[in-house]
Amino acid sequence: LQQFKIIIVGAGFSGICMGIELLRQGITDFAVLEKAGSLGGTWRDNTYPGAECDIPSALYSYSFEHNHKWQYKWSGQQQILKYQHDTAAKYGVDQHIQFGREVKEAKFQSETSRWLINTSDGEQYSAQHIVTAVGQLHHPAIPKFAGDESFAGERFHSANWNHRAELVGKRVAVIGNAASAVQFIPEIAPEVARLVIFQRSANWIVPKVDRPYTRFEQWVSRTMPWITKIYRFNIWLVGEAIVLPAIRGNRLARWFLRVWGQWALKRAIKDKGLIAKLTPDYPIGAKRILFSDNYYPTLVRDNVHLETSSIQSFTRSGILRKDGVHEEFDMVIYATGFRTNPFLAPMQFYGPSGQSLADSWRGGAYAYLGIATSGFPNLHMMYGPNTNLGHTSIIIMIEAQAKYIVQSIIGLDNRSVETLEVKTAVEQNYNQEIQQRLQKLAFSEVDNSWYMDGGKITNNWAGGTREYRRRLSRVNWDAYSFTS
Ligand code: NAP
Repeated sequence: LQQFKIIIVGAGFSGICMGIELLRQGITDFAVLEKAGSLGGTWRDNTYPGAECDIPSALYSYSFEHNHKWQYKWSGQQQILKYQHDTAAKYGVDQHIQFGREVKEAKFQSETSRWLINTSDGEQYSAQHIVTAVGQLHHPAIPKFAGDESFAGERFHSANWNHRAELVGKRVAVIGNAASAVQFIPEIAPEVARLVIFQRSANWIVPKVDRPYTRFEQWVSRTMPWITKIYRFNIWLVGEAIVLPAIRGNRLARWFLRVWGQWALKRAIKDKGLIAKLTPDYPIGAKRILFSDNYYPTLVRDNVHLETSSIQSFTRSGILRKDGVHEEFDMVIYATGFRTNPFLAPMQFYGPSGQSLADSWRGGAYAYLGIATSGFPNLHMMYGPNTNLGHTSIIIMIEAQAKYIVQSIIGLDNRSVETLEVKTAVEQNYNQEIQQRLQKLAFSEVDNSWYMDGGKITNNWAGGTREYRRRLSRVNWDAYSFTS
């Protein structure tokens, strides 16, 4: 049995940030349990061609760890992964990570007021606090199609890219056309013989206007970091002042983004039928807005076809569509996203009286500030329920959460108490407020998206990042009950 004050689950952006924040406060009695063999989370797993961040790196990076080496405004996966490795090493978090440890379940032991944690490989840990830092998007969702097992060609998900699979000269079907798909489709289209994209619904895409940073810009960033801070602030401002209002239903902001997206669409594509197929039927901001400079131009290639008729079944040699047409393929790539619900699955958490978190969340996950839920003392969540964003960088939320959780842990020690647990009434009021506000946002204007569990929006935050940071700036001790 290994004993720690704090166990962090996951060594991605959240887990690394949490480790840094603890070390900054002089707390070293913690371990980060990571199921894989290396750190990085989403940026370790998603290695598909063209994988990059759709938030500019100057904002999609820790506010306290400026990187003047970004090569592009929107960095590629490998650069982001390197940044994570460098940052974890610089602050010493890497020394606290235990790899190959997948947390299976955690049970709160009332006698000791500690969590007993079991990993899949049979290790046991005991900790006063658990911090989950497992992200919202890391279990690939592969929809079941009739006959898919019989398909003789290659099949894989974008997040488990098979780099051994030869693409050159192949007939490839891609299912899905959202954030992941629009990044790798332009990369693989020139290599394959034929590429058919199965699109269920069109998405809003706006230009990225990407380019490499010049040497001069990198030099400025290195020698005058304050300029990069202003630059970072500007990127943040665009999200809060244009995209967030669009999500809130502001007509001018929606009009601006729509016109911008449609301008890019019509500039790249002249075929009216194709333009109609690519025009979304839902309000902009209701699902994630996509950024791409090369997706639309790829669709006019001779070897690329956008298919809107849906899939009836797979056959041994290809795909049979609902309109009765069969087409042969050598490879099927699923760009079908992730299972975002139930939250924290497949890990199981059991509270003091043995109740399971999965049961508490059967109607959809919720948590006070996205961090704490009643019945589960000293369980702290990062990037938990209702903390995802549709308009700016998640790192802003993660940093606020890390600070808040460390503040809670230190505050608890100062009060000489062992556990804190959010009061049920406080959590209920909070969730009622968030759900009411979400009803008025664009996220509620579609029937389904990965932001939802059933009809309920369980993933997204209801406001801007300024408000979230403000609400997390100081722990409201009245919201919690304690045991010593
Ligand atoms: P996603 O947004 O969930 O998109 C899944 C796609 O698959 C959609 O086009 C969806 O169609 C389609 N699909 C799902 N099930 C289907 C089925 N049974 N039949 C036909 N089509 C089906 O997944 P994603 O593109 O991987 O992106 C997920 C999230 O990851 C993004 O929203 C973003 O937050 C993040 N991400 C970020 C980056 C980045 O920063 N660079 C890159 C990739 C992903 P419908 O739209 O009709 O449901």
